[in-house]
Amino acid sequence: MTDRDGTRDVDPPVERPAPDDRRIARTEQAFTSPHWNRTDRGSYRCAWCGRDLFDSSAKFESSTGWPSFTDTAVPTSVVGIPEKNRFFTRIEVRCAGCESHLGYLFRDGPDPTGLRYCVNGSALQFVPAGAEGGPGQ
Ligand SMILES: [Zn+2]
Repeated sequence: MTDRDGTRDVDPPVERPAPDDRRIARTEQAFTSPHWNRTDRGSYRCAWCGRDLFDSSAKFESSTGWPSFTDTAVPTSVVGIPEKNRFFTRIEVRCAGCESHLGYLFRDGPDPTGLRYCVNGSALQFVPAGAEGGPGQ
């Protein structure tokens, strides 16, 4: 930007509204999510679009501080996007409904799948079993 007098100036800090950050790949701090140590039965849905993503039956204690699952609710719950760098390849996991960033998929999970979906709890909405719209008892 150029000021009226023609001099280039540093943009002043602008108070911006909170960005819609659901598509920004960022990882919440471990042990801070509302779901990392939740053990009750129910389903985990996308916090943004409500898509069924994971079931509590696939959740396990990974000791990472993030909600971790061995499988998705249905195969079409999420999409995986390979993310490569010099040191490793990991799979970014996004909601298949709205493409919001959920977390990452690693291949060091327990049986039966050997997969570990490491998910930001803030991207999930928990619906207890038996709740309206939730899975059956
Ligand atoms: Zn979604």
